[in-house]
Amino acid sequence: MSLPAHGRPAEEILDALRALREEDLPTHGGKLFAYVYDPGLADLDELTLRAHGLSAATNGLDPTAFPSLLRMENDIVAAAAGLLGGDRATVGNVTSGGTESVLLAVKAARDARPDVTAPRIVLPSSAHPAFAKAGAYLRVALDVVPVDPQTLRVSTVDIENAIGPDTVLVVASAPAYPHGVLDPVPAIAAAAARHGVRCHVDACFGGWLLPFWRELGVAGEAFDLTVPGVTSISVDLHKYAYCPKGVSVLLHRTAQLRAPQYFGYAGWPGYGLVNATVASTRPGGPIAAAWATLQRIGHDGYRTLAARTLEATRGLHEAVRAVPDLRTLLPEPESSVVAFTGGSTVDVFVVADALAAQGWHIQPQMAFDGIPRTAHLTVTAAVAPHVASFAGALDAAVAAARAAGPAIAELPPLDPAALTPDTVARMAAALGLDLAAGHPTQGMAGINAVLDAAPVAVREKLLTAVLDLLQRPSPQL
Ligand SMILES: *Cc1c(COP(=O)(O)O)cnc(C)c1O
Repeated sequence: MSLPAHGRPAEEILDALRALREEDLPTHGGKLFAYVYDPGLADLDELTLRAHGLSAATNGLDPTAFPSLLRMENDIVAAAAGLLGGDRATVGNVTSGGTESVLLAVKAARDARPDVTAPRIVLPSSAHPAFAKAGAYLRVALDVVPVDPQTLRVSTVDIENAIGPDTVLVVASAPAYPHGVLDPVPAIAAAAARHGVRCHVDACFGGWLLPFWRELGVAGEAFDLTVPGVTSISVDLHKYAYCPKGVSVLLHRTAQLRAPQYFGYAGWPGYGLVNATVASTRPGGPIAAAWATLQRIGHDGYRTLAARTLEATRGLHEAVRAVPDLRTLLPEPESSVVAFTGGSTVDVFVVADALAAQGWHIQPQMAFDGIPRTAHLTVTAAVAPHVASFAGALDAAVAAARAAGPAIAELPPLDPAALTPDTVARMAAALGLDLAAGHPTQGMAGINAVLDAAPVAVREKLLTAVLDLLQRPSPQL
């Protein structure tokens, strides 16, 4: 596509967009168990679209120019603080997503300690890659503490032993994304506090769900700002607050803890710049859409959605446990994740393809450090009416996978440094990944098996090379 010589009619453009969207996975209907969070509320999209539109042209760069955005941001932060154990001292910001919230928590922790020249963070191996990304962007080293491959839980003693004089932050997740396990936040935060180190709770995934599960009587350790030693917490509103994409919240226990998060600059002949977030020009649309969503659903609405999610999670967990060839990673779900693996009789990557052929999309996860390869299901409220239907599809998929046998990964020893774009393009083509179309022509099982067989450094190199090959300008028409 090149820039059209003359502007096109609006309807024609929208038709073209609709045609493009047909290739995408379904964002609604509860059949996609990753990436999207569907509350299954019929009238919500119309409201968020209109709220987004009303504020789409505004810019959060300067809150005095657009006080509506400042007001909405402060309202959203207040709602998050109310849900996550904040008090009058709590402050926070709306960010563009969980990764940005994490990046800013790491930046604040690093810059609070100018005395430390080689800062480090301590985190369980199940923590989200956003922390590794923050470490890479901000030159903060990671001390990764492995989780037990059986229990998927981190030992608090190991966490505490990893804390050293250069540690600026300790991380706990509520829950960790891969298997939905809640880290022991009270013990981890206490360990951090004993060493005078900040503790960030990554509740990006569970922060807008678990407080409502607690109201519904689900037991679980405390993880929010009521826990002594927790200094900051993040929650993604574009996950279980069911807001359109582009909104997360980072809370700090006090304004003093937030201070090093800011970046101010006046050493140029232009406007005085001060930002709390990574972006300077900040789109108002997502903030307005989130603000509208929180008010439309309300506390009782979120509790109802959380109840549906709980019922669906338990239902899916039982459905998986009813299949003899499959094994759930946890005896009981601790949050809205169901993760399962196959035994010797079926390959979960092949099961994933067989489910996709029936319109159900689960997320394959690679084996890591003694933890087997798994299928991950993020469960949302929209799944509740479809549990029985999923169970039927799963039975059929497992039967198909048993008949098909495992995906075979023929992987020569690869030196990550020697992998060229040409080699990767040839491998992708051999595995049926059409780089021009941007999607696989057959199942993903072969590709996933290759990634699974590869050492971590090779996985990273392969994934990066494929994305680099996909992200090339469209051919000129
Ligand atoms: C989703 C997620 C993140 C990252 O959030 P993005 O919005 O994808 O940037 C961080 N931590 C956890 C636990 C998550 O589930």
